[in-house]
Amino acid sequence: MGDCLFCKIIKKEIPAEIVYENDNVLAFKDINPQAPTHILIIPKIHVPTLNELEESHKEMMGELLLTSSKIAKQEGIADDGYRTGFNCGEAAGQTVWHIHLHLLGGRSFNWPPG
Ligand code: 5GP
Ligand code: ZN
Repeated sequence: MGDCLFCKIIKKEIPAEIVYENDNVLAFKDINPQAPTHILIIPKIHVPTLNELEESHKEMMGELLLTSSKIAKQEGIADDGYRTGFNCGEAAGQTVWHIHLHLLGGRSFNWPPG
């Protein structure tokens, strides 16, 4: 946890462009955006991947999704549509080992993703 990049962003030890924050979640702009809007929504507790989720995380996971919906409206991408997703593990391309919900918008997306 001590060397987790996103825990450092939560503690404000590393700067980030924060777009939303409350007691439980933090949302900030992705440093390498893959769409005109690309925001990461993270819990303030350290959980490495979806594989480590427990019953006690149910409310937190709901809050991540509810936050993505709020931010999509705040950022003006809700009406056109947007993509959300969790990458879990190396095969899915996860590179930061602290759960994060990607929120992407401002362009069209293919399905299935590559
Ligand atoms: P993953 O590949 O694990 O699903 O997503 C990690 C995301 O974190 C990537 O989209 C990457 O661009 C972003 N990222 C990595 N390091 C930083 C950072 O220091 N600041 C911000 N804002 N985003 C980062
Ligand atoms: Zn962390």
